[in-house]
Amino acid sequence: MSTPKILISACLVGEPVRYDGKSNLIDHSLISTWQSQDLLLPICPEVIGGLKTPRPPAEIQLNGSLQTQQGIDVTAEFQRGAELTLQKALKHNIKIAILTEKSPSCGSQLIYDGAFARKLIKGQGVTAKLLEKHGIKVFNQFELAEAEDHLKATALNDPNIKRKQ
Ligand code: SF4
Repeated sequence: MSTPKILISACLVGEPVRYDGKSNLIDHSLISTWQSQDLLLPICPEVIGGLKTPRPPAEIQLNGSLQTQQGIDVTAEFQRGAELTLQKALKHNIKIAILTEKSPSCGSQLIYDGAFARKLIKGQGVTAKLLEKHGIKVFNQFELAEAEDHLKATALNDPNIKRKQ
């Protein structure tokens, strides 16, 4: 069995899927290495959940719903995106994900507080939370070395996985 793929936020590999039509492209040797090994599986939960690009930004509210600043409820789209991402991850035997910090879908440690005032609080986006609930380890774009260590440890601990060098 070969190394399982790494799920990654599509905006981190340059896909212009952010709410404002831009990307969060990161330039890092580990990303290039994983790309050359065909290990990355890019996905944008918000796009596969049915939201258009560009789209109004949304934040997680105190009651857990997702709303735009104009008060449009997009909880269903965010939830659908999270569930479709999980399905894809399970289908590909994904063990780790690298997701964009601060996003209401992809954030794994920090999110905005729901008041559209650019204030960050501890918390997880809906996709990051669902993946972790199903045993998928989520890293952010600033934890690539940690993700690589985790990937190596997973391969070492599973005799069925042959790590590409
Ligand atoms: S939902 Fe995730 S992948 Fe899509 S634009 Fe936002 S941070 Fe990037």
